[in-house]
Amino acid sequence: MSNTLDYYKLLPKTNCGECGLPTCLAFAIRLAQKNAKAAACPHLTEELKTQLNNATLPLVREVVIRSDEGEIHIGGETVFYRHEKKFYNQTIICLAISDLDSQETIDKKIQMKSIERLAEKLSTNMIALFNDSKEREPFVQLVQYIQKKVTTPICLLSEEPEYLEEAINLICDSRVIIGFGKKENIQKVLHLAIKYQVAVVLSSKEGIKGLAYLEAIAKEKGVSDLILDCTGKNAIETLQIQILLRWKAVYEKNRTFGYPIISFPFYFSPEDFSKEILLAGLLTIKYSSIVVVSDNDLNQLVPLLVLRENIFTDPQKPIQVNAGLYTFGNVDKNSPVFLTTNFSLTYFTVSNDIESSGCPSYLLVIDTEGTSVLTAFAADKISAEKITEALVSVNLRKKVDHRTIIIPGFLSPLSSEIEDASSWKVLVGPTDSAEISLFLKKFWEVN
Ligand code: SF4
Repeated sequence: MSNTLDYYKLLPKTNCGECGLPTCLAFAIRLAQKNAKAAACPHLTEELKTQLNNATLPLVREVVIRSDEGEIHIGGETVFYRHEKKFYNQTIICLAISDLDSQETIDKKIQMKSIERLAEKLSTNMIALFNDSKEREPFVQLVQYIQKKVTTPICLLSEEPEYLEEAINLICDSRVIIGFGKKENIQKVLHLAIKYQVAVVLSSKEGIKGLAYLEAIAKEKGVSDLILDCTGKNAIETLQIQILLRWKAVYEKNRTFGYPIISFPFYFSPEDFSKEILLAGLLTIKYSSIVVVSDNDLNQLVPLLVLRENIFTDPQKPIQVNAGLYTFGNVDKNSPVFLTTNFSLTYFTVSNDIESSGCPSYLLVIDTEGTSVLTAFAADKISAEKITEALVSVNLRKKVDHRTIIIPGFLSPLSSEIEDASSWKVLVGPTDSAEISLFLKKFWEVN
């Protein structure tokens, strides 16, 4: 089912409104957008509900991994290109640790580092433990050590189901993914997935045919939280397979291939972390839900973390910060009060320029649905009334002795309306916040 009419044909067409929408057509539109559940219509048979529910499931299955840090969702994607709608669940950047790594390397790797960008904390968010030694003891020891040290989800990768089971029992919670079972061990690995309710990585060196074979076995066993590992002979082949999998899932609606994908870029760039990161970026774009990297050198990881952030930003939704009152430096009763909108880029530009001025200041941020100052003004998303309400809601009268607010230059046409509505004096500031420092020297000190 791909369009609204396909859904509409199955609905009762009585427009009773009990689903919360005025008409069956409106409900069908929501179903087609995957923004409604069939259960909301009480007049559907169970059979129809199942049919509609299956049709509204994302084309790439969503797998949920739980940890102390909360739930991580992977997959759940519905489109081939981001501009068709959006990508839903961020790729997990996962750090590889081998049971052959030295203690020093392990300790260095698990020192979690992060950067802050546009009020978001960016970092790796999973650990993958490799049983490269192929022996029980080093793997179990590694799992024992790591599970106490980190709270992120852990991906356990061993060819031996017995080692995997021992490791799952050591971690003892649901933040686990297991994988790398050999073809001949697949039944045992799937048995573990059912017993411990964990997601499984299906690995095949035989391309998509091999994956289809393994998926059929998993489906027969009733295991549906699957992650596909389609590592090819080289980086290009791996990328091609990943693109093909998404194509089949989205355009052919072939659920055999509609699962999150895991990739290991370091297989193709040993000893060259910059190249690995470049490849990790490509695999993040198309279409890995988990990318396993071999090091946590933050300087090199930053481009990958930022790329991931950008790809998974909803292009239909402006990035916004919370509306409210922000302070910069040791503000007092004489500090200037600036005003801006809650579009992230505007907020961070203005706040940087305020900080650079060195003058302790307040910044009142108005909710304009994430639009910039000029757009908010043109689209009527900012008004004297809204600004007055914001001044009252943050109780600014108690915070400063003066009654002057500095508005962005683009809002100058609103200045007298703001003065009338709020009884605050308006100073029209610069149109470019880079001039805040100069503006303060010229107008605030003499104000
Ligand atoms: Fe149509 Fe069902 Fe909604 Fe009534 S509850 S309007 S029948 S979709």
